[in-house]
Amino acid sequence: MNKQNVFCPECRREVPYRTEEILDKAELRGKEYSFTAHRAYCVECGEEVYVAALEDLRLKALYDSYRIENDIISLEEIQALPDRYNIGKRPLSLLLGWGEQTFSRYYEGDMPTKQYSDILKNIAESPAFYLSLLDKGKNKGITDVAYRKSKAATEELLKQDQTHIRSKIDDVVDYLLFHCRDVTPLTLQKGLYYAQGFYYAFFGSYLFEDTCQAWVHGPAYPKIYGRFKNYCFDPIDRVEEEGPWYLAGEEILLLENIVKHVFCFSGKTLEAFTHTEAPWITARHGLDPDALSKRTISNESIGRYFVSVRDKYKMLTPANIKDYTWDLFGQI
Ligand SMILES: [Zn+2]
Repeated sequence: MNKQNVFCPECRREVPYRTEEILDKAELRGKEYSFTAHRAYCVECGEEVYVAALEDLRLKALYDSYRIENDIISLEEIQALPDRYNIGKRPLSLLLGWGEQTFSRYYEGDMPTKQYSDILKNIAESPAFYLSLLDKGKNKGITDVAYRKSKAATEELLKQDQTHIRSKIDDVVDYLLFHCRDVTPLTLQKGLYYAQGFYYAFFGSYLFEDTCQAWVHGPAYPKIYGRFKNYCFDPIDRVEEEGPWYLAGEEILLLENIVKHVFCFSGKTLEAFTHTEAPWITARHGLDPDALSKRTISNESIGRYFVSVRDKYKMLTPANIKDYTWDLFGQI
């Protein structure tokens, strides 16, 4: 802070001052809040002096503390919204169905109600939510130009979002669903597990970071389960778009062989395979066959097991996966 001199009532003239950080308390809307603030003292006589800028900071700190305790969106988050979505304060207020100055008041520091704050928070967190408001609100008095500019900015944000949330396992799933029909959630889960295991056996690293759990019906990846649980026992709709998948050549080679030599069996058959294998058996040690479990099957245990499979069947390439699956099929 730029320290100009201030008036000291004791010395009766303009003096330099020093500041001290303190833990302050104040009441706001019937409740007490603590926050850090600064006090200023005359360097000549040591009396406390009044500094307007420090008083502003003190109020801001009190309001910040109030916002945190009451789960109200922060001022900084509010002020970031117009830039983020490329929209003016007035049009934003209008498309939310608010008075045209309402958003501007919040932008200047007024405290939104919890209800309005929740709407602003949702907007800050979710471009998809904002886009739905934008589409619903476009007849509420915002210009067509403003609508289109904001829509373009939001779609750009959505694109970035997807690449952030999507991870390797989603690319693997989409690749498999593009190349196979009649894949049920159960089959898909087993395919992911075999892809992870055999990729490690042949290439010495894991295909994706996700770990699976030892569920009753075999290894399952919870995130992927959530994505497709609506299908229950029905085949998942085929992925119609051919990529782009961010998969390397070796990864595709492996997945081609999962499609050929794993997905040729039904989900129930694959479930029976996994029930003969160490990673699932070990993880469920001591559990009843129908006991629900969220125990993790570590990638290490999957890797170790499939290295042993590779050695036992003297596999040379991923095409040899069929030696294993057909052998198991003969045993169950
Ligand atoms: Zn003084």
